[in-house]
Amino acid sequence: MPSYDSEFKSVIAKVRAHEKWFSQSLPMIASENVASRRVRDVMASDLGHRYAEGWPGERVYAGCKFIDQIELQAIALGKKLFRAEFIDVRPISGVVANLAVYSALSGPGDTMLALSIPNGGHISHGKKDFSGSAGLVHSLEIEYFAFDKDEMNIDVDASKKRIKAKKSVRLAMFGGSLFLFPHPVKELAEIIRDAGGTVCYDAAHVAGLIAGGMFQDPLREGAQVMTFSTHKTLFGPQGGAVVSKAEFADQLKKAVFPGTTSNHHLHSVAGKALVFAEFLEFGRKYAKDVVVNAQALAQKLASLGEKVLGEKNGYTKSHQVAVDVIKYSDGGTLEKRLEAQNIVVNRQLIPGDLQAGRHYTNPGGIRLGVAELTRLGMGKGEMAEVAEIIHLAMAGKRKREVTGRIREMRKDFQTVKYSFSDSPAYFFR
Ligand SMILES: *Cc1c(COP(=O)(O)O)cnc(C)c1O
Repeated sequence: MPSYDSEFKSVIAKVRAHEKWFSQSLPMIASENVASRRVRDVMASDLGHRYAEGWPGERVYAGCKFIDQIELQAIALGKKLFRAEFIDVRPISGVVANLAVYSALSGPGDTMLALSIPNGGHISHGKKDFSGSAGLVHSLEIEYFAFDKDEMNIDVDASKKRIKAKKSVRLAMFGGSLFLFPHPVKELAEIIRDAGGTVCYDAAHVAGLIAGGMFQDPLREGAQVMTFSTHKTLFGPQGGAVVSKAEFADQLKKAVFPGTTSNHHLHSVAGKALVFAEFLEFGRKYAKDVVVNAQALAQKLASLGEKVLGEKNGYTKSHQVAVDVIKYSDGGTLEKRLEAQNIVVNRQLIPGDLQAGRHYTNPGGIRLGVAELTRLGMGKGEMAEVAEIIHLAMAGKRKREVTGRIREMRKDFQTVKYSFSDSPAYFFR
């Protein structure tokens, strides 16, 4: 009989190695963050073994006495945090929340307005030709918002023309993955509604900034529905949610269950309740610090000669900084070069890439996020050092100095802040 004990142990050893590596790195993937100890504890609790299915009080499974109470608390806290008439905390990810919205509010062949991917759109808003969820899973036709590269934002007038040229628009999905500046929801909501469309906003990246009052407030600006991930700038467990005006509640509930999930992740629901409470208490300060840090990083990189996008509008009003790296080679090469020096970032398609023949594997940019570094306690001073380190690392000539400076700097940043008590960021044994 073979024993798989050594396989078992080797997986554990790799998890340990991953944590050690990240504790000595600069984790700057813009869609990532780090959760507090109590959130991580509930993720490992018995809730993660259970089934509920359905709405609290109307479950398909027994054993939900406490689960129902937790989910109702998550709902109450989430509604308060986003000042929303309705929230469903069951979607198991941001993409699943988007699929629920498409299911509830559109049908096959309908047209949805969204951003193209080089202009910041997400693959879940994408066309069938690119295997995007909207096209491939839901057979939606996608019409793009017009985009202004200098503004790094949706072009309002040109988008209005595109909307008017359509017979009907069923949905509009604001929001994106490369997301530097608030979108013109207010400016476009009315014309979208006049064209027969529901105004939606994908806050996967910026939910924490919205909750903290630092970006824009889509539900007050004309958006009727908003989806988000719970683990990007909102520093919770991996998961999704959807909020909306009350009139969409019944349709959305059915689209979430049974439409797009059977069991939802109950441990994650408990984690969502905790992170909503953390955000109600600490979210304003956190969101402000994130944006200040992103702007400090962008300014320092620009002063070192890097080509930071969005210059016309002060580089960024979110947690992200986008850098055109074509002078070095391309974003794919830079992503690998930085990873080899313990700086973890994404390559990023940027406006103009497709016309120039650049594609997803070797795009023109990289995207930097400061949400996680901020949660670890870094401030403006550290952002100047991070910018210098990244600038050196991009040239790729002083690798030992780069990894040494990061290790030294990270010694003071091993703790998760902005929660009811500070907790270790890395504790897997
Ligand atoms: C990350 C992202 C998603 C997907 O969220 P998951 O939680 O990973 O499923 C959806 N929309 C946008 C705009 C995103 O950036």
